[in-house]
Amino acid sequence: MTKIMAIANQKGGVGKTTTAVNLAAGLASEGLQVLLVDLDPQGNATMGSGIDKRGLTVSIYHGLLRLRRAEEIVCRSEQGKYDVLPANRDLAGAEIELVDEAERELRLKQLLNPFSFQYDAVLIDCPPALNLLAINALAAADEVMIPMQCEYYALEGVSDLVNTIRRIRMHINPALEIGGLLRTMYSATSTLAQQVSEQLKSHFADKVYDTVIPRNVRLAEAPSHGLPVSVYDAASKGAQAYQALAREMKTRFHSVK
Ligand code: ATP
Ligand code: MG
Repeated sequence: MTKIMAIANQKGGVGKTTTAVNLAAGLASEGLQVLLVDLDPQGNATMGSGIDKRGLTVSIYHGLLRLRRAEEIVCRSEQGKYDVLPANRDLAGAEIELVDEAERELRLKQLLNPFSFQYDAVLIDCPPALNLLAINALAAADEVMIPMQCEYYALEGVSDLVNTIRRIRMHINPALEIGGLLRTMYSATSTLAQQVSEQLKSHFADKVYDTVIPRNVRLAEAPSHGLPVSVYDAASKGAQAYQALAREMKTRFHSVK
């Protein structure tokens, strides 16, 4: 069965794209067929997958506007060994163009519907907003992964997102679940990070992934080479953490099946 996971947090710069790219590569190296959907006009997941967003003739924009089918848009991250529905700044226009369209929240779900069955996992990299694109991701997903930094205001941001997820469940996608919260850019030496991490665990219990992603400069360098960190520097702490996350996810997928 295909698992569709939205990687979402309306807060910017928390590690959504880093997680999307490296988890896609990690799951692929665990033997899964993986599709990464870039749903952010910034196109960072596209670039980080080694695909030049400036050279795209078709992108997810065309899919959401029903101008192209997913088969006509999909491309391959050769290094990451996964498929990508790429994005670039055209996608910013989709938001406006879809405003008066029917089923505007369901466009991604409908695009993926006849296409995603060939994959074990579909990861959707969301923009840093709770906008129509993010709603499309939440409408299409089985579960949400919430990457977050263990900072003072992080819990507030997460409760906004959790409320949005509740509303989406009521109105659009009753089956949507919180897959889990992922602690990113973690510094084990920071007392504040440890405190916030403890609060998270007491609030969300087993909804917090066991794997913690440390702050690691190799993770920040890899995208400028268009590579997942597992190819850029397999021995780095960042690569090891995302591989561990992929294994944790794979176990969770199987326990659900
Ligand atoms: P946006 O909201 O703009 O889409 P994002 O949530 O997708 O951002 P990323 O782009 O993944 O966040 O990360 C933000 C910045 O932090 C990037 O420069 C990235 O390379 C860096 N970064 C992410 N995770 C780590 C980490 N674990 N260690 C060090 N740097 C990291
Ligand atoms: Mg991003």
